[in-house]
Amino acid sequence: PLVLGIETSCDETGIGLVRGHTLLADTVASSVEEHARFGGVVPEVASRAHLEAMAPTVERALQRAGVRFSDVDAVAVTAGPGLAGALLVGVAAAKAYALGLGVPLYGVNHLAAHVAVDQLEHGPLPKPCIAMLVSGGHSSLLLVPDVAGDLISLGSTVDDAAGEAFDKVARVLGLPFPGGPHIDRAATSGSGTAIAFPRGKYDDGTLDFSFSGLKTAVARWVEAKERAGEPISVPDVSASFQEAVVDVLTRKALQACRQYDVKDLLIGGGVAANSRLRALAQDRCDHAGIRLRVPRPGLCTDNGAMVAALGSELLSTGAPPSPLNIPADSSLPITTTRL
Ligand code: ATP
Ligand code: MG
Ligand code: FE
Repeated sequence: PLVLGIETSCDETGIGLVRGHTLLADTVASSVEEHARFGGVVPEVASRAHLEAMAPTVERALQRAGVRFSDVDAVAVTAGPGLAGALLVGVAAAKAYALGLGVPLYGVNHLAAHVAVDQLEHGPLPKPCIAMLVSGGHSSLLLVPDVAGDLISLGSTVDDAAGEAFDKVARVLGLPFPGGPHIDRAATSGSGTAIAFPRGKYDDGTLDFSFSGLKTAVARWVEAKERAGEPISVPDVSASFQEAVVDVLTRKALQACRQYDVKDLLIGGGVAANSRLRALAQDRCDHAGIRLRVPRPGLCTDNGAMVAALGSELLSTGAPPSPLNIPADSSLPITTTRL
């Protein structure tokens, strides 16, 4: 069965077409450049951009996959969490497509979709697995008994999300928004041990994270250097900050695997595109005898394929479709996979 996936939770209009675990098309129209000068995503601008991009992006996806509208067997859409107005555009479009085509609708959780997308690249997820979801709005450790079922939260950030920390530190360093990829790039020519930045909640025994202390420490360090008129090495600050983040993330992810006696770890969400996180996680998993799965970078950041992937899983497991009156739930909890 062919599933059309629609993602509009933030600033990406993502359309995916998936058959089983096979990705047929993944087209993304981003309004990121319209937001860059504001240093963050402007909700109203994002909603309008989704509205304009929706129909042409769906057309492009159908063309790329070489299928027609009438071939679509189900429509999946991000129902939350995310920006309310942005979500509404996707949910309204999905309802219209499902109704018009006479096919089932699945309203799914954006975060569960960040997990499910890995199946497109690496096949069925082992049951259970531990998932670490690190993105612009979330940082969580999850126990995943089954991707089509509800996720169990083991821990999460008590303040900033990992991606949020990347974006805020990038801003302090004068790098463009969103900062994660820029810090990743700058860090390749810097040293991760140049500056000893703090690692929040490193040894507290919980599976929670904290990144706001680190973010503040970087800002103070940069301010102090500026006040003293000393030069700042953007590569060194980037690499040292990045090392602090990925050290804590990988440590806690492995701690979760040990604690729950699970041998398979999946990392997903936009920050999973980070090259140092991928390398350190692989290194530590190899030592600990844990099998690591990380989707390719393009599938880590927001896209429609991930939504189609989760929809495809729900369809194949015989999950009942969502009612056509589902809301867009901007604060849909991470533990609720679908509406
Ligand atoms: P959420 O999924 O929590 O709703 P979101 O959808 O806005 O948030 P994603 O698109 O999943 O977030 O991820 C975006 C975040 O990932 C941004 O904070 C961005 O800076 C970060 N990011 C993207 N690429 C990298 C990278 N290479 N290194 C570090 N961070 C990155
Ligand atoms: Mg985005
Ligand atoms: Fe996301």
